[in-house]
Amino acid sequence: MSLTASIREQVRQRAQCACEFCGVNEIDVGGMLTIDHFQPRTKAGSDTLENLVYACIACNQYKQDYWPRTEIAPILWNPRQESASQHFVEQEDGQLTALTPTGVFTIKRLRLNRSQLIAARQRRQQQLQVERLLRRYQELTTLQSRINIQLTDLAIEQQMLLKDQRKWLRILLSRLNQ
Ligand SMILES: [Zn+2]
Repeated sequence: MSLTASIREQVRQRAQCACEFCGVNEIDVGGMLTIDHFQPRTKAGSDTLENLVYACIACNQYKQDYWPRTEIAPILWNPRQESASQHFVEQEDGQLTALTPTGVFTIKRLRLNRSQLIAARQRRQQQLQVERLLRRYQELTTLQSRINIQLTDLAIEQQMLLKDQRKWLRILLSRLNQ
């Protein structure tokens, strides 16, 4: 039995239209992604929402119908049960490094360090950096305008003091001349 349109849409929305394994989204690939049965149907996997993962075509193809056959077989990361940060860490060069045996196996099996994903991570990191710099620039501009206001206030105060000073000097001079 194939999945209903409603179930497909629920899986898609839950994943925010992005591959739950590698993070690429529909806009990146220019189309809808696929629905993967984490525990494959051929290995007794069900059609329940908990067993369905929104996945890009590449991740889905690399994963195929993997399911550990023995107790000691490597376990693939299940994005529905554990966060990515439990198994991977993203490096500055866009490479993903594994933190656990499941992480090692998943990176290898799903080719999570394929060149296109590294390029996408680098692009995202650059965007984040640009956003950080823009925020800093805005902070500095705000600070600068505050300083300008304070400087104007100081200049006005200084003029008033000078005026006062001139007045007192005049008074003093007139007394001396008396
Ligand atoms: Zn993917």
